[in-house]
Amino acid sequence: MVVGGGPAGAAAAVYAARKGIRTGVAAERFGGQVLDTMAIENFISVPHTEGPKLAAALETHVREYDVEVMNLQTATKLEAVEGGFRVTMASGAALTAASVVLSTGARWRKMGVPGEQDYLNKGVAFCPHCDGPLFKGKRIAVIGGGNSGVEAAIDLAGLVAHVTLIEFDKQLRADDVLQRKLRSLKNVTILTHAKTTEVKGDGTRVTGLAYEDRTSGEIREIALEGIFVQIGLMPNTDWLKGTIDLSPRGEIVVDAHGATSMPGVFAAGDCTTTPYKQIVIAMGEGAKASLAAFDHLIRVSAP
Ligand code: FAD
Repeated sequence: MVVGGGPAGAAAAVYAARKGIRTGVAAERFGGQVLDTMAIENFISVPHTEGPKLAAALETHVREYDVEVMNLQTATKLEAVEGGFRVTMASGAALTAASVVLSTGARWRKMGVPGEQDYLNKGVAFCPHCDGPLFKGKRIAVIGGGNSGVEAAIDLAGLVAHVTLIEFDKQLRADDVLQRKLRSLKNVTILTHAKTTEVKGDGTRVTGLAYEDRTSGEIREIALEGIFVQIGLMPNTDWLKGTIDLSPRGEIVVDAHGATSMPGVFAAGDCTTTPYKQIVIAMGEGAKASLAAFDHLIRVSAP
């Protein structure tokens, strides 16, 4: 059984079904984060596609096989039972399986300020690897001065005209070596003790942002074309707390085979400790988790 229907879950389902394993996928929202994405230009061999198109293709590919797709199902509990595992859904349904692949993904933490939601994919972005090239030669801001924010600012500074890094606290929280690199870049401005208060736009695209200088209390505005929000990526793993080992960030701890701390349960994609949260990586990890589940199943079912 695969829990989660994003790129990792879809790949896991296809690989499991092709091994002849009776396979089901339960997902809150088949397609996952891909559904919230517009242009995708780094899915190798497909120079350009759009999120909803790729999400539909994922589902079509899974349905080519004898896979039971259970959409709009939220898993709330995982437990080991005689002969395998039971996954309980918010609907009250409970499904049992000999092996489970967890691929519940993650969600980016949002700022929660006016304009942010209106300009998602219209200047407000989360993933520098995905959307950085769209802002070539433009002015952008990165929100968040932790490791992710500072890494994003360094990365983007090589592509865009100017980066303003905005940190809520009085100092950046990133490692010293990253801070030193950031401060060495000529096209970066660092604003600390600053709180973003609004995303500004012209109805079509982002045109700027407003922030509060937390020292003076003054509201200021910056004209720019893009805002990368880097204040955290939260794995969808709350329901697994106390069941399997999670990292301090809540990611499912996996080994090189995608195995979790519960033998017979595997995990893949953005919900795991595997670094770099990308479609192509999630798919590879989903395939790997199912191959590892297959290896597990042939051993537990040996006479
Ligand atoms: P997800 O896509 O998050 O899928 C998780 C699945 O699990 C979903 O079906 C969800 O509904 C389900 N689920 C969650 N909790 C439960 C539960 N309790 N019970 C049942 N089901 C559950 N990556 C790129 O490579 N290129 C890009 O251009 C790109 N652009 C992006 C743009 C945006 C706006 C965002 C948000 C992300 C972008 N990414 C991009 C990142 C990429 O989308 C993710 O890395 C990828 O989708 C991760 O796949 P996943 O299967 O691990 O998780």
